[in-house]
Amino acid sequence: MAAVIDGSAMARALQDRTAREVEDITVRTGIAPGLAVILVGDDPASEVYVRRKVAECDRAGIRSIKHRLPETTTQSELLDLIAALNADTGVHGVLVQLPLPHQISPARVLDAIDPAKDVDGFHPVNVGRLSTGTGGLVPCTPLGCMMLLDSVIETYRGLNAVVIGKSNIVGKPVALLLLERECTVTVTHIATRGLADIVRTADIVVAAAGSPRLVRGDWVKPGAVVIDVGITRITEKGGRTRLVGDVAFDEIGHARAATPVPGGVGPMTIACLLSNTVRAAVNHERTETAAA
Ligand code: NAD
Repeated sequence: MAAVIDGSAMARALQDRTAREVEDITVRTGIAPGLAVILVGDDPASEVYVRRKVAECDRAGIRSIKHRLPETTTQSELLDLIAALNADTGVHGVLVQLPLPHQISPARVLDAIDPAKDVDGFHPVNVGRLSTGTGGLVPCTPLGCMMLLDSVIETYRGLNAVVIGKSNIVGKPVALLLLERECTVTVTHIATRGLADIVRTADIVVAAAGSPRLVRGDWVKPGAVVIDVGITRITEKGGRTRLVGDVAFDEIGHARAATPVPGGVGPMTIACLLSNTVRAAVNHERTETAAA
């Protein structure tokens, strides 16, 4: 039976650690780490994500500053707000919830966030730092994947890792993080030929395709560690909905360990957002001290 990597428990532990760090910083500097969350328009899923992020910040003692802008917001209005938040020394993290309305370019907006406050890790400077292995803020979901892997893998060196999906927010950064640990990394995607056989070579599988039960039991090598990032809401007969991952979890009993969906990568993503905010606040404090 594969060990279940309990992302909910790990996320709780990380949140507790973050809350303790927040308390330390607040006592030391007199100001709590602050995260500005910008929501443009009224996408219902985005509203849920933002509500959860704000609630988790509150629980950890991080000051969350929510900016709700109408659907009709222009790009320059949003850029003005980001410039103001970049300049605000009480704000340590700036997060723009995606997707944005069609009149606003997400690339332009992400570029405008100060890399030091880019707690999502999407700014080209942080992407560049990740690809050169020179620090920077790491995107939350990939960071969470690595923490989950760290809980079961001691030595990465030389392991074969197969990443399914090449998105900028999950697949590519996960691949870079695994490469940094000296895994032999294969990045696959929708146009990959012979995916099943490639996955069969993997000691580590990270599935981030958004394709329910794509990875079947006979794709997974005995003893492999499987991280399932995919989350798709499916409707069952009778109209009930449930969340399904990219991996047929019930078929991979021969794996060494695997994350469930839900309760695996999902909870780690928000926990990593909070820890990135604290990291940004600590970096800010160090810069201020060095400048003084
Ligand atoms: P995306 O749509 O941007 O990218 C999907 C990638 O998977 C693409 O590179 C595509 O080529 C590849 N792909 C799609 N179908 C495939 C197939 N049949 N075979 C091989 N490759 C295939 O998606 P994303 O933003 O990277 O998210 C991927 C999944 O992870 C989604 O289900 C998303 O909901 C989930 N996700 C979860 C979290 C979390 O916190 N747990 C965070 C981000 C994304």
